[in-house]
Amino acid sequence: MSKWEENVRKVTPYTPGEQPNRPGMIKLNTNENPYPPAPGVLKAMTAPDGDALRRYPDPAASVLVNALAERYQVDPSQVFVGVGSDDVLAMAFMTFFNSEKPILFPDITYSFYPVWAEEFRIPFEKVALKDDFTICKEDYYRENGGIVFPNPNAPTALAMGLEDVEEIIRHNPDVVVIVDEAYVDFGAESALKLVEKYENLLVVQTFSKSRSLAGMRIGFAIGNPVLIKYLNDVKYSFNSYTMDQTALSCGVAAVKDEAYFQETTDKIKKTRENAKVELAKLGFSFPDSKANFLFITHPEYQAKDLFQALREEGIYVRYFAQPRIDNYLRVSIGTDGQMEALYAFLRQYMGKA
Ligand code: PMP
Repeated sequence: MSKWEENVRKVTPYTPGEQPNRPGMIKLNTNENPYPPAPGVLKAMTAPDGDALRRYPDPAASVLVNALAERYQVDPSQVFVGVGSDDVLAMAFMTFFNSEKPILFPDITYSFYPVWAEEFRIPFEKVALKDDFTICKEDYYRENGGIVFPNPNAPTALAMGLEDVEEIIRHNPDVVVIVDEAYVDFGAESALKLVEKYENLLVVQTFSKSRSLAGMRIGFAIGNPVLIKYLNDVKYSFNSYTMDQTALSCGVAAVKDEAYFQETTDKIKKTRENAKVELAKLGFSFPDSKANFLFITHPEYQAKDLFQALREEGIYVRYFAQPRIDNYLRVSIGTDGQMEALYAFLRQYMGKA
């Protein structure tokens, strides 16, 4: 090792899902939305505003902050936006988890949490999920430097009821509790209802899933104005954490089209409920999903073999080589046609065609 490498901050990097680009592939591996973003978003992209692009973007991102405040019935001072919820979460880790005590998050959860903790030198403890993959709220009633968990959790897809989420927040008044609601629009109860009541609650959401804008990178947080102020203090004005002008316009167009949002999330939920039936018929079991993906396992087939066989067929799902979940696959909900292709292949693979 070179001498200078002693001074490098070393982290175990996050392993993102593959982003292949094979013609005709069926991509069910990174929980993207199978439908395009709202028509207004595409219009905002094809009719760029040259004058707006000439200028720096508004560092406060006011147009989008205001649109979100209106949509979620909060004051603009309670809204923070960023370049994808990954950036918002990273910023929140940096801002709020500045304690010697370990932060707590589930052992099976979004695998970026330990990466940020390492990056920002935040001590952390992983809290084991119960045998049925649910979060045990009582395990979070102890000294800690902060708490973060997704609801629904990923990759299990299980949602916690709002009363349980509230219990965790209520038992931890001295630290910030971050509820990562990347998948909340597919059927879980949002903790947004609680932000007026708990000043230590930060709810983080994304445009990547229910608003079909993973490619644009838009995320946001809603919480007490004091939390939001601290986040804004940490964020620099014009660096990569600032959303560009086009993303701001597209984000506003996405938030304003409530009908399209309802229509597409309803369609995905319907396809998911049908997927539960079809996959159960094939012998799969799974925790009850409230997200846009299913976490499936089969008593007779190894997840890794299925993953490979599907991949060769051009159907991409997610496999995690991680203890306890290495016989599961995470399957994003695609269009009905894509899901039919998945069932058809599985039927044939299992000799049930
Ligand atoms: N939280 C969870 C639980 C996720 O699964 C993801 C998506 N991989 C994110 C946050 C980040 O989403 P984005 O940065 O696209 O907003």
